[in-house]
Amino acid sequence: LTQLFRPLDMLGWVYRNIRQGVIDMASMFDLLDAHAEVRDAPNAVPLAIASGHVRFEAVHFGYDPDREILKGVDLDIPAGATVAVVGPSGAGKSTLARLMYRFYDVTGGRITIDGQDIRDVTQSSLRGSIGIVPQDTVLFNDTIGYNIAYGREGTTPDEIAVAARGAAIAGFIQSLPNGFETRVGERGLKLSGGEKQRVAIARTLVKNPPILILDEATSALDSRTEADIQATLEAIEHGRTTIVIAHRLSTVVHADRIIVLEAGRVAEQGTHAQLLRKNGLYAEMWARQAQEREAEGGEEVPAE
Ligand code: ATP
Repeated sequence: LTQLFRPLDMLGWVYRNIRQGVIDMASMFDLLDAHAEVRDAPNAVPLAIASGHVRFEAVHFGYDPDREILKGVDLDIPAGATVAVVGPSGAGKSTLARLMYRFYDVTGGRITIDGQDIRDVTQSSLRGSIGIVPQDTVLFNDTIGYNIAYGREGTTPDEIAVAARGAAIAGFIQSLPNGFETRVGERGLKLSGGEKQRVAIARTLVKNPPILILDEATSALDSRTEADIQATLEAIEHGRTTIVIAHRLSTVVHADRIIVLEAGRVAEQGTHAQLLRKNGLYAEMWARQAQEREAEGGEEVPAE
């Protein structure tokens, strides 16, 4: 009976924490990890990062055995490049990110980083090498400094300040009555969506990972904030292999390569200009989003 109820206890714990707003995606992963079937191989070795070259080779995956979500995905993400994944809702974009972080294992094919199958390396070394800026950052009920340092143990106040500057949130923090010691979260200062995202970016800078996954926020930020955050993200992408899971095409124009995923398959790939010339799914999505932006009275985004 205890066996039966333990997962329920766990769910209750997760639920209470989410309600209190004190859990974020990375700790959620760690937590679920305790129950996940994904385990270190007996002879797992630490991931040796050379340059951060990520490859998906004929990757198949389904959450349920009778419903395949990814149907043979090949991706080549060169070291240091920024690759954006776009496509209709439900195409499998976020699933790619979950597989990279090894939240689940592929059911066919493989994912490699610098030639090493991620199933052959320790999960701690894999996850230590990947930084995630999630869609929605939930803060701990603690100081803003603690929330930034959460990315790594033993972080010094200087490192926190440098990360805050890199995430363009240092000025805001200095304007708070207690600076980095100001309490945030449910029982403290409430931060806006944009400010929370900047805390997530600062956290990632503290971690300083060679590989980045940016899961673009679906929730609307005002266009000025979005443009500011976009500029900050582009700055931190330098020198790291970056995968952007994008919902708005206007944010991926600068990517070195754009992958268009459709129903679990790569439908098209290329640069923004190449994909527009192709006049396929991407060009269609671009035209539709441009119309929507116009209808909302938003700013024009130059096509090329
Ligand atoms: P969106 O743009 O709407 O975020 P996406 O392309 O990121 O979509 P995914 O989140 O990767 O899509 O989901 C792909 C498919 O897998 C969807 O049909 C979804 O319902 C399904 N799916 C996602 N997570 C799970 C899960 N934990 N269990 C079962 N099915 C899931």
